[in-house]
Amino acid sequence: MLDARLRLVEQLRNRGIADPRVLDAMARVPRERFVDPSLRDFAYDDAPLPIGGGQTISQPYVVALMAEAAELGPTSRVLEVGAGSGYAAAVYAGIAQKVFAIELNQNLAEQAALRLATLGFGDVALRQGDGAEGWPDEAPFDAILVAAAAGAPPDALRRQLRIGGRLIIPVGERTQAQELLKIVRRGEDDFEETSLAFVRFVPLR
Ligand code: SAH
Repeated sequence: MLDARLRLVEQLRNRGIADPRVLDAMARVPRERFVDPSLRDFAYDDAPLPIGGGQTISQPYVVALMAEAAELGPTSRVLEVGAGSGYAAAVYAGIAQKVFAIELNQNLAEQAALRLATLGFGDVALRQGDGAEGWPDEAPFDAILVAAAAGAPPDALRRQLRIGGRLIIPVGERTQAQELLKIVRRGEDDFEETSLAFVRFVPLR
């Protein structure tokens, strides 16, 4: 499994992921532990996989792309919306100081919290809830990463960025036409938006 994981990291490097912190974190998180045992042989394919409830564990390349775009570092306070299996939260926790993660689906939230605790990712605080509201008590964040597509970036999330903070979010009504956006809060009411890639995520509910 470790060999397969390191091969995957090499693929990510070849696809253009350059941040050593991101590559190092991807090399340390056992993705096979975040999927059903029947899917373990596919854990290091660079593809999304089903995790139940009609949801999927994110594709490794997209997790790496988002982590890199979010400019995560050892002092970052991070919010993830749509924790799903907990995989991306574990990758972000491998880089950041503290990760807060929200998952709407009660079942997935419980399983992910248990899994993260078992694997020793204690620096992730995961709760069930509607992530479109953010996590006001823990704001502001250096980075907010959203794993489900919205019609438009929720204002609550933009407002929970510190000045200089980055929001990485897929936007688009149709699954076929979503754009991954990076929104940097330059000032109190000044947000700078760039497009990173075309992507496919499940909808934000
Ligand atoms: N990052 C996850 C990917 C999960 S897929 C992983 O690595 O496994 C996206 C998740 O977003 C789904 O689990 C879905 O239940 C969740 N979701 C959708 N709308 C949400 C909302 N409003 N608040 C929180 N989570 C939401």
